[in-house]
Amino acid sequence: MQKIAYPCPCGGKIHWKKEKVIRDGVDCGLLDVEYCKICGEEYLPEESMHIVEQKLKEAGLWGIERKEIKFWKSGTSITTRFPAEMVKKIGLDRVKKGHIYLEGDRKLTIEF
Ligand SMILES: [Zn+2]
Repeated sequence: MQKIAYPCPCGGKIHWKKEKVIRDGVDCGLLDVEYCKICGEEYLPEESMHIVEQKLKEAGLWGIERKEIKFWKSGTSITTRFPAEMVKKIGLDRVKKGHIYLEGDRKLTIEF
């Protein structure tokens, strides 16, 4: 695999190293990591990303963001519930207000 040294957004240079990568508590092994000596930012190159994805899939942790939800009609409004794991993960239980908007015909986006 080709290792290209390209500049970091901070103005520094990206270097390569082998590092033990842990994502969501899963040990993904020793992977190629790009890093910047100046700002300390780390990036996973595509090859390493694929390995991480594979490891998380094996652990059943990949794609857990997609959950089925149900809609209830309540007067002219619709009520729904957010899955508990998702609420916990993003700290939604501490949020009081947000914004909702349409993204196309069949997709809603909620920001908080
Ligand atoms: Zn940098």
